[in-house]
Amino acid sequence: MSEFAFELELCAHLESSGRPGASSNAIVARQLGGAVAEPGGRILDIVCVEPGPEFDQRLALTGETIPDAAIEADVGPGTARYWKDAFADDCHPERAKSALERALKIDFFESELRNGREYVRQVARYPDWYSRIVGIENKPDLGTPGDLEAQLRTDASLGLVDEAILATESYVTGAHLNRIPGEIGVWRVSRGDTSDGVGNRKLEIEVVREPMSLSTDESGIEPLEYHPGHTDVAVVSPERKARTRRRIAERAFGKGWRTFRFPDCEACEPSGEEFSTPLPFCSWKGRIVDAESECGASCAGHDPASGLEIDLEAERDRRTPWRREPSGERRRQSGLDQFG
Ligand code: SF4
Repeated sequence: MSEFAFELELCAHLESSGRPGASSNAIVARQLGGAVAEPGGRILDIVCVEPGPEFDQRLALTGETIPDAAIEADVGPGTARYWKDAFADDCHPERAKSALERALKIDFFESELRNGREYVRQVARYPDWYSRIVGIENKPDLGTPGDLEAQLRTDASLGLVDEAILATESYVTGAHLNRIPGEIGVWRVSRGDTSDGVGNRKLEIEVVREPMSLSTDESGIEPLEYHPGHTDVAVVSPERKARTRRRIAERAFGKGWRTFRFPDCEACEPSGEEFSTPLPFCSWKGRIVDAESECGASCAGHDPASGLEIDLEAERDRRTPWRREPSGERRRQSGLDQFG
C-alpha cells in the first residue's frame, strides 16, 4: 500500500476506533511539524492529541487553530488593552498584527474602539484542553525504510511527544526491533478478514511493542545534521518544547487529518462500502489515490468528472467532538460583562 493510502486509512481507523487501549475521542491530524530548533526538520505523519480537563471549553471556543501570539498575548477575558501593548516586545509587529486579525476573525479576541484606538481582549481564557500527544510514523514497507531510523531517533531523544510509534504493514523481525530505539512503540497494521457487519474493511492493529513514555518535561536533544563521525545537535529546553507542543495541539485541532482532495474523475468512488468515511478511492487503480500527485490527464484511467461535492469539514463535524461552528464563548458571554 502507498504511504498516502496507509496514512489515510490509519487516520480513519484511529478516529473511529482510537489507538489500541485508548478511547476514540483524541484529535487526529496528519503531517505536522515535529521539531523545535529546526521546525521543518521533522514532520510527524500522524498526531493523536488526547483531551485534557478543559477539552469542552476548547471545543466551544472555535473550530480553528488559535495563533500562538494571540494565546500568549497579555489580554485576559477581563482585561482589554490597546492591541499593540498586548503583544510581547519580542513579537514582531507583523506577526502581532496577523495574530490580532486572525484572533478577531475566529472569535478568540473581541475589540472595541476607544479614542480611535483598537482595544482587544480574549473572549475566554485559553483552556487547559489537551494532555498526551502521540506521534505515529508510517512506514508500510520496512524494506524501503528511507530515513526511518534517524527520524525515530529524533523522536526518542527530543521527547517532544509523549509517545512515538512506528506503524507498518511489514512483518516485524527482531532485527528491525533492534534497529529502532527502545522507546519507540511498534504496530503492525493489517486488514482483517472479517467485516464489521456493514461492509467496512476493518484495519487491525497488532501491538508488536508498547511505546515508552518520553520525557516531555525535560530538556531534549534535537539532531540537526549528520556528518561522518559526529552529529550537530541542539539542546531544547522544556519551555520551548511546551510551546511547540501547544502549537502542535492547536494545529491538530484546527486542521484535522482530512487535508486531501477528491479526484475530478469518474473512477473515484469515495463512498464505496469499503471505508467508514469517504476517502479518495479509485476503482480503476483499486486503491486510495493522492489526487495531487496521481490524478489528471496524464493518468490512463482518467475520465473527467465534475468535482465531487463532499464536505470534509462536515464529515469531521459529524464524526468527532470537533465542531466547525461551535456555539462560541462570544455569544455565551455577550451582555454579561463589560470591558475591564
Ligand atoms: S485520474 Fe487515474 S488515479 Fe485518479 S481517480 Fe482517475 S483513474 Fe484513478
